[in-house]
Amino acid sequence: MKILVSSCLLGEDVRYDGENSAIAYNTSSSFGEKELFMDIMCEHSIYSFCPEVSGGLSTPREAAEIISSTKPFKIQTKSGENVTINFLIGAKNTLELCKEENITVALLKSKSPSCGNDGIYDGTFGHNLVPGVGITTKLLEENGIKVFNEKQIHELAKHLNPQLDKMSLANSLKGLKL
Ligand code: SF4
Repeated sequence: MKILVSSCLLGEDVRYDGENSAIAYNTSSSFGEKELFMDIMCEHSIYSFCPEVSGGLSTPREAAEIISSTKPFKIQTKSGENVTINFLIGAKNTLELCKEENITVALLKSKSPSCGNDGIYDGTFGHNLVPGVGITTKLLEENGIKVFNEKQIHELAKHLNPQLDKMSLANSLKGLKL
């Protein structure tokens, strides 16, 4: 299956601070999660993509947060530069790639104003998480693309292989005397 993956999760230094968010080195991910992630990366066709870089933003760049997540959208940097157009172009480019390649599932970085799927920062730059999704995730989900984040590797695995639960159960029952 084809999977769109945030470039920073794959170790590319495309984050706003010039760093990456490689799952392989993430101390909050368990060994099992990393192993499962590596299995998925090896068994499927991976499309690495960074919406913000695609939208014309440089790396490193100033941190940005969503001020308005409904129309008219507004995304701005900490110093007040309006970068909405870059985020919208990045989201549109991501969706275009998915449509061209028939990609229906994505693994994207949590909390990002582009890629987040389960909470975003509230626009005050005070590290306050609020319910909501990033601009790219919003567009992808509106177009039927299923988005997971790096803390949802097991859910992603189950989505890719619905038989996984039954197989795990069968394996765990092996050798048991009933
Ligand atoms: S836009 Fe997405 S892929 Fe790019 S650095 Fe941010 S979280 Fe990673």
